[in-house]
Amino acid sequence: MAQIEPTSPSAEEVRAKALADRYRGADAVTVLRAAIEEEFPGDIALVSSFGAESAVLLHLVAQVAPDLPVLFIDTGKHFAQTPIYRRNLAKKLGLTNVRDLHPAADEVAVEDPDGDLWRRDPDACCTLRKVRPLDSALRDFGTWITGRKQFHGGQRVDLPTFEHKGDHFKVNPIVSWGPDEVEAYFAAHDLPRHPLVDQGFPSIGCWPCTHPVATGDDNRAGRWRGSAKTECGIHTRL
Ligand code: SF4
Repeated sequence: MAQIEPTSPSAEEVRAKALADRYRGADAVTVLRAAIEEEFPGDIALVSSFGAESAVLLHLVAQVAPDLPVLFIDTGKHFAQTPIYRRNLAKKLGLTNVRDLHPAADEVAVEDPDGDLWRRDPDACCTLRKVRPLDSALRDFGTWITGRKQFHGGQRVDLPTFEHKGDHFKVNPIVSWGPDEVEAYFAAHDLPRHPLVDQGFPSIGCWPCTHPVATGDDNRAGRWRGSAKTECGIHTRL
């Protein structure tokens, strides 16, 4: 049987590891300042779903750089409440550079003319409506900030604060926060909730693929319920 040779880490992976080591245990604002002002100035954006927990990281970023580009993927399949929440929250926090990303109309016309691709092939739907629009927007940036947390489980349990995947660095400033810290931050800063949180949605994506969860269930248990799919692909494609 052929041996698989171990590959050496790239220079970018080495840098990400060094940053993760340097900022291990640092608070989120320190990590954000380091990333935005020192390590990747002018070459970094926040990607936000304006979902159930998003207000925390958006509020933190607003303290450091309210004009930071914030990328919101408007899939065309959001609950009606989400774009309203996105507008109101951006205004309340003073974020001045929120950009709405859309799937390409000509691609939607060919690949999802009836709007039901999510039912037939959710991976293809996520690629069309999320992955490609984000890939296109991220060509302008070498680094993006995410709100992923280890307690979300699945592929997120071992996430570091800094990583390098594909062509990009990723910064995860609140990766080690637990649900209690998230709750406490909402309360301390009187942050508005996405309206669906009170209806049993601890994680909010597109309406066809998001369901409420029972008390005690995994936060993301309502996403693509009944299928093996756990991620939309924006974090798992290279
Ligand atoms: S979450 Fe569902 S509706 Fe949204 S892009 Fe993915 S498959 Fe399509």
